[in-house]
Amino acid sequence: MAALKAVLFHTHGGPEVLEYTDFPTPEPGANEVLVRLEVAALNRLDLWVRKGWPGIKLTYPHIPGADGAGVIASVGKDVQEWSAGDSVVVNANIGCWECEYCLSGLDNQCRNWHMLGETIRGTYAEYVCVPARNVFTIPSGFDERIAAAGALVYLTAWHSLKTRGNLRPGESVAVVGVTGGVNAASIDVAKLVGATVYAVGSSPQKLALAESLGADYLIDRSKDQDWAKTIYNLTAKHGVDVVVDNVGTTFPLSFRAAKKGGRILTVGNTGGPKIEIDNRYVFGKHLSLIGSTMGTWQDFTAVMELIYTGRLHPVLDRSYPLSEARLAQERLEKGQQMGKITLVIGS
Ligand SMILES: [Zn+2]
Repeated sequence: MAALKAVLFHTHGGPEVLEYTDFPTPEPGANEVLVRLEVAALNRLDLWVRKGWPGIKLTYPHIPGADGAGVIASVGKDVQEWSAGDSVVVNANIGCWECEYCLSGLDNQCRNWHMLGETIRGTYAEYVCVPARNVFTIPSGFDERIAAAGALVYLTAWHSLKTRGNLRPGESVAVVGVTGGVNAASIDVAKLVGATVYAVGSSPQKLALAESLGADYLIDRSKDQDWAKTIYNLTAKHGVDVVVDNVGTTFPLSFRAAKKGGRILTVGNTGGPKIEIDNRYVFGKHLSLIGSTMGTWQDFTAVMELIYTGRLHPVLDRSYPLSEARLAQERLEKGQQMGKITLVIGS
């Protein structure tokens, strides 16, 4: 079997466990496609997987990476809809399409769910095999970096805000934390829907990113620690309809910033997994706490079409060659990025 170049690791740890090396090129299964990747995009998930958590089980060597775009190199024997040479973006949310969840369109709640770069080998490589149902066309001439950079974060933000959160035009949304990832995508999605956005960021630079995506109010939490009170005052003492809180440890302030009947949306916990909840806010204010992870295939095609037509706007940070994935992860780990970091693969 021919070798490909990949970034992989044999044990959990810091960025130093990443190796740029040869790895056998996989063969697509009957219903899979082999994609020759040209771009991979980094996600915070890549850092979690590298560091590990109790109960995580990887097949070593593990190749990280959930996002990728490239060209189909070959297809499995039962694949009709794709051919070698097609340009595609990869959807990292892998459902079985046989269980009751998948059959009802909820493939992100699949009983046999897989996540590219977490439960199976991912996109920090020249080639990756994925189910044929997990790729989507990239229009001719469209920047593959933008397609790859948008996939996971926009899928996740769209599913949380629209599909689960039922965000409607005219509503108000507070986004806690501004990074290049899901929170930036959430601001972008909320503005597309027609909501008023209150961005809570940790620096003027991060808030400038929020402003570039259309955020209406910018709150610098390094200067204004009681940002919930600021939101309360800015909303004529009502609070906001929706709080996007992917930090977790900020829930006490998010509960205060929400209006009566408000929704708290969460897809992650960058501040840590354990949170103390003051239940008086939950029942007293009729709050709904709505969690989700990734999104459905329907969500994926919706956001990619909106990205291709310029209505959603993934922001690109630096690009690195695949061989410098370690430097790229270090930049992400230090929170220096202003948008999505990408890896450019091949020549
Ligand atoms: Zn399933």
